[in-house]
Amino acid sequence: MSSTTPEPRATEPKTAGPGSPESDDAQAPITSVFSGMQPSGELHIGNYLGALKTWVQLQERYPCIFCVVDLHALTQPFEPREMPGRIRDMVIGWLSAGLDPDRCTMFVQSTVAEHAELAWVLNTITPMGLLERMTQFKDKSKRQPENINVGLFDYPVLQAADIVVYRADGVPVGEDQVQHVEFTRDVVGKFNYRFGETFPMPRARLSQAPRVMGLDGERKMSKSLGNQIGLNDSPEEVWNKIAPAKTDIRRKRRTDPGVPEECNIFSYHRFFSSSEQQAWAAEGCRTAGIGCRECKRLVADNINAVLAPMRERRAAIERRPRLVDETLAAGTAKLRPLARETMELVRERLGLPTAERYQPSACRSRSTDPTASSPPSPSGGTGR
Ligand code: SF4
Repeated sequence: MSSTTPEPRATEPKTAGPGSPESDDAQAPITSVFSGMQPSGELHIGNYLGALKTWVQLQERYPCIFCVVDLHALTQPFEPREMPGRIRDMVIGWLSAGLDPDRCTMFVQSTVAEHAELAWVLNTITPMGLLERMTQFKDKSKRQPENINVGLFDYPVLQAADIVVYRADGVPVGEDQVQHVEFTRDVVGKFNYRFGETFPMPRARLSQAPRVMGLDGERKMSKSLGNQIGLNDSPEEVWNKIAPAKTDIRRKRRTDPGVPEECNIFSYHRFFSSSEQQAWAAEGCRTAGIGCRECKRLVADNINAVLAPMRERRAAIERRPRLVDETLAAGTAKLRPLARETMELVRERLGLPTAERYQPSACRSRSTDPTASSPPSPSGGTGR
């Protein structure tokens, strides 16, 4: 095996694994897709590989709804004055990564009130035991022991409402979110059994890169941990982050062989490098035929090749300052009627009045129309 550095990839790699969008023809077809992301501000390659890359592919195949889940973000410590910027930066990141407002629907969760309304209904049929089993609650409780709020515990119920309020049946997720889709399926099953067939049964679609480690090699990539490569990073910033990153500890000197499978940089090769390049890095690492610097240079070049078109799109978006607001406004306008329609059906199933039932105008028309139904009086009479 030659240790000559192969050419960087000109385009991003295309892989298909079990559960990936490319392989899901073997599974039951889905008709619509819902997914969401907390407004963390600037996105990183972990967000891209774990979700966005799949979203960009899915928008070509299905009606897709992508949601900035700001209500979920309230369960963690946050600064209100930063929230608008976080939402905006996230949507700029989505558009830069290739989401197209003409091919999918993007909106902010809190602008469609039916999410919270349906979550309350689902709360009433969700056993505590189901929520107590959720591993994400346990993890987050450990991370923020000073703020273990009810919303954090109830998070999966709101997530279930997010999906079913649009009666979506496809949910692209990383491995760590599969339990949440299973939870949603449990809740949907309970609702449909108790009140009649109302919601389709959602299914998880595993993304291609379930877990991307941060530059520290110890924890999942996260902006809050400061171990990320941002989608907005310049080529120099990418290199300045990759160059000092940890490698396999066996390679103390250039002549020491290493074990690529135990090196975090090699995990990035798996995501960004061709199979030929991966073989070159693995062989060169095991035989000490290459140095870590060459190995890192190649992966940095490959990451930059993927980020380059995103930087161009970002520059174009910044020349259209109204684009983000217009995209989100169009999304809300399209989705509100769908969510209202679902809630009307849910109200009917539960025996609750429709949202319009006690509007003053509806009462006036009932008082002039003798055939309009009236609510029963407290004594059980006709209410006259
Ligand atoms: S040669 Fe590459 S894979 Fe091996 S330890 Fe160095 S950076 Fe990691």
